[in-house]
Amino acid sequence: MNPLPLPFNRVEGTAILAEKFESFQGEGPLTGQRCVFCRFSRCNLTCSWCDTKYTWDWAQYQPTDVSHRVAVPELINWVAECDVDLMVITGGEPMIQQPAMTALAAGVGEDVRVQVETNGTLAPVPELVDLVDLWVVSPKLANSGVGYSRRIVPPALAALQDTGRAVFKFIVTDVASDFSEIGELIDTFGLKRIWVMPEGDTPEKVLAGTAAIHEPALERGWNVSTRLHTLTGAR
Ligand code: SF4
Repeated sequence: MNPLPLPFNRVEGTAILAEKFESFQGEGPLTGQRCVFCRFSRCNLTCSWCDTKYTWDWAQYQPTDVSHRVAVPELINWVAECDVDLMVITGGEPMIQQPAMTALAAGVGEDVRVQVETNGTLAPVPELVDLVDLWVVSPKLANSGVGYSRRIVPPALAALQDTGRAVFKFIVTDVASDFSEIGELIDTFGLKRIWVMPEGDTPEKVLAGTAAIHEPALERGWNVSTRLHTLTGAR
């Protein structure tokens, strides 16, 4: 697996996109809300269970087959045509392309809330901070197979926490070890507004995983997310 994002030319006013589509938010605090997704291509991590490897795994995918450059004004027009009040900017790791994110978030206007899904390893630039209504930060645990210093970047976590509009969502594969690791991260970095969500690419796995985290999460005062898109088979 290529551990680094493929270099690409930054062209002002454009984004390297994997896909865009209209659906319902499938996970996290806004689960069930109708929205549009703008999935940016490229990632700076290489999680073993990643369900969007077409955004970064160039051993499996050809970048030219699975990503394309889009003019940001074109994206803004598409969002307006969809007539939604929520836009989710996701990836991959969209924060690799913050200038494009900033232009997009500014362009959709105040009637469209902006949610960003990020792995929490890159701090937001000031001009982007005020344009984002909700940061769903998903720091990766040891279960991702990624080394600690690559997946946990304290200044980036602090900057996202300081926005006052961040929640932290952790993907769980094993309740005992993962909950212990999440607890350590919460204590170390003073994280607040915690969500836990099962890993899984089948309805059976997601249902079993959600059942497994239900009680332990309740005991710790954390929130639980399912994966609606996996349960329904939609994207
Ligand atoms: S951070 Fe997200 S997109 Fe990147 S490899 Fe991990 S799960 Fe996949």
